Amino acid sequence: MPRISNKPIQLLKGFKDILPEHQKYWDFFMGKALVLLQSYGYGRIDLPVIEQTNLYLKGTGKHTDIVSKELYNFEDKGGENVTVRPEFTPGICRAYIEHGMLNRPQPVKFYAYGPVFRHDNPQSGRFRQFNQLDLEVIGSENPVVDAELIIIAYRLLESLGLSVEVRLNSIGCPECRPEYITSLKQYLSSGGRKKSLCENCRERYTKNPLRMLDCKNEQCQQVFKEAPQIVDFLCDQCKKNFMEVLEQLDDLGVLYQLDVRLVRGLDYYNGTAFEIYLKQDDLTKSQSALVGGGRYDGLIEILGGRPTPASGFAIGIERLISKMRELKIEPPIHKKPDIFVAQLGSEARKECFRLFERLMSRGFKVAEAFSKDGLKNQLERADSVGAKFSLILGQRELLDKTIIIRDMQSGIQEIINYDKVMDVVSKRLETASSSVKVYIDKDNANKGSDKNEVEISGPSGKDEPIDKNKKPKYKLNPSSDDNERTINRL
Ligand code: AMP
Repeated sequence: MPRISNKPIQLLKGFKDILPEHQKYWDFFMGKALVLLQSYGYGRIDLPVIEQTNLYLKGTGKHTDIVSKELYNFEDKGGENVTVRPEFTPGICRAYIEHGMLNRPQPVKFYAYGPVFRHDNPQSGRFRQFNQLDLEVIGSENPVVDAELIIIAYRLLESLGLSVEVRLNSIGCPECRPEYITSLKQYLSSGGRKKSLCENCRERYTKNPLRMLDCKNEQCQQVFKEAPQIVDFLCDQCKKNFMEVLEQLDDLGVLYQLDVRLVRGLDYYNGTAFEIYLKQDDLTKSQSALVGGGRYDGLIEILGGRPTPASGFAIGIERLISKMRELKIEPPIHKKPDIFVAQLGSEARKECFRLFERLMSRGFKVAEAFSKDGLKNQLERADSVGAKFSLILGQRELLDKTIIIRDMQSGIQEIINYDKVMDVVSKRLETASSSVKVYIDKDNANKGSDKNEVEISGPSGKDEPIDKNKKPKYKLNPSSDDNERTINRL
């Protein structure tokens, strides 16, 4: 046993607490996500956090960074080699196979939500435990599935107030990709190009050649500028599928850039691969992708199932929320209490506790500060949580069987009969709610007191109107050919 020091115990490197004041971002995110997920018919799946290590060796792939460098794996007390999940996709595929979901109406649409663990190098935007929202559609080869997934991710980020763009590519299939890889390797072997690649790329040259393309090293990027591009090697089926995805995105006004060097980090992808970035982000920073996903038609078979096409993506929620906070996007607070219950003296506190429970069971949104004694402190709390009314009970009111009701905005107080408190509160709230308002904190919670009042105007975020005659929004890709030229080659 190691000696236990007297120093306060601190968080492990790369791990983070999510404090109560930050939960509003998570609730806001999940609230928006659930609306979309329900409309598009995704069902929630919860998986164990620990799985057999083999699932990730086979599924994610031995040569990926996630498996070769970042796995949290260990031998458990029974001698089994287990891994704390680094991503959701292999686990969802395992569950699909294990529960015979092939026999259900296809495709099966899943979403999962929760922490994943990677022993990554902690830095801004990179943690060792972080949360993902993961969507998988298993059992359809129709490219409309890829488009649907991209659109859901895009709309979700838009609805949070983020301005984003999709970057996408097709990385071909086992039919057409080998020819491309041969040609890429030939290009690198000639003219001493391979020697000028970084060590990582030289290693990938044999183990995972496609991944060389998204190396962030400046010198490697120079070498790849003139390299053959996969778009010129796609088979007819891959071309057709990719064009269908692009057409669907155009049709719904989704902004995208084709990126012939986008390959994604995992072994199992084929066909459409995509990432979503904040528009104003520096695209050379590897940690700036908010979403990553694509098609993985071979994975179910690799994991022992029947050949089954599939497609999916994952959103990194910490990264997303930190962008929201950087951009000062504040979630609206909908859950303000109607009534704050304040007390003076121990007998009054007991009665107030009973009153609080009764109000709650009648469906009122209530708040309290039973641990505080002074009325001033309690009313300050009522103000800070945004209660509409406070009910104040002291010794005198207890004896008189009355209670004070205080309108928190005007400060006007009235003494009412204690037996009538439910009726009075209902009536007051009815009158107050005829003009519904919501408060948005302008700055972070800790800056706090500065509040902005706005009328509720339905779900926030702008919906792009659908204009069927709209020309495709092809935009110049700064690091490669422009979209149009790429499309012409498809
Ligand atoms: P991946 O599973 O690697 O495709 O990543 C999907 C998303 O998860 C990324 O776009 C990021 O938003 C997020 N992500 C990946 N790695 C990390 C990390 N180490 N820390 C925080 N978020 C991450």
